Amino acid sequence: LFAGQSEFLKGVVAMSGLPPADRLEICFAGRSNVGKSSLINALTGTRGLARASNTPGRTQEINFFTQGPDLYLVDLPGYGFANAPLPVVEKWQRLLKQYLSGRPSLRRAFVLIDARHGVKPVDEEILSLLDRSAVTFQCVLTKADKVKEKERDRVLAQVRAALARHPAAYPEMVLTSSEKGDGIATLRSIIAGLA
Ligand code: GDP
Repeated sequence: LFAGQSEFLKGVVAMSGLPPADRLEICFAGRSNVGKSSLINALTGTRGLARASNTPGRTQEINFFTQGPDLYLVDLPGYGFANAPLPVVEKWQRLLKQYLSGRPSLRRAFVLIDARHGVKPVDEEILSLLDRSAVTFQCVLTKADKVKEKERDRVLAQVRAALARHPAAYPEMVLTSSEKGDGIATLRSIIAGLA
């Protein structure tokens, strides 16, 4: 699956803009600055690819990337920034709900959590939405290179406890560092296993 090229396909602002649900699809969610773009770049081996998602105007869109002919990688907008006007936030939340509950080819969501911080209240909202939408999600801990072993174990336990409260959670977590490359091959094989 990851042998082919990855390319930015389009940014979607309404359900009518979604590409045909004709292949395996996975999505990535996480609060702003968690390392989502870096992870997508590391996963696809394409430097600068997901920068598109962080450019002004694209931050409220659902961004689709093709990974070869058989996989869509979907970058959901980062959450946790309270600077957007309420109507914009509401419009975006509506689209997110529609997407998560109405996309037959969406196999799994990967929710990114900073390995230094664990699950925060701002993350709980998306975890609950994934529960309600019955989208299986898996937690990916980011920036693992920034934590010492003891701290990491404490965060892992905190995340595990949080996941136990969410019926849609897949229990296995993936510890990653986009900087060092840790966990990237594991994540690729998890995704390949969904095909
Ligand atoms: P996004 O807003 O979630 O897309 O986050 P970015 O991918 O833009 O990353 C936010 C910041 O965290 C940037 O300064 C990255 O260089 C840094 N970062 C991302 N991943 C890692 C990582 O694995 N290790 C370290 N040390 N820094 C990272």
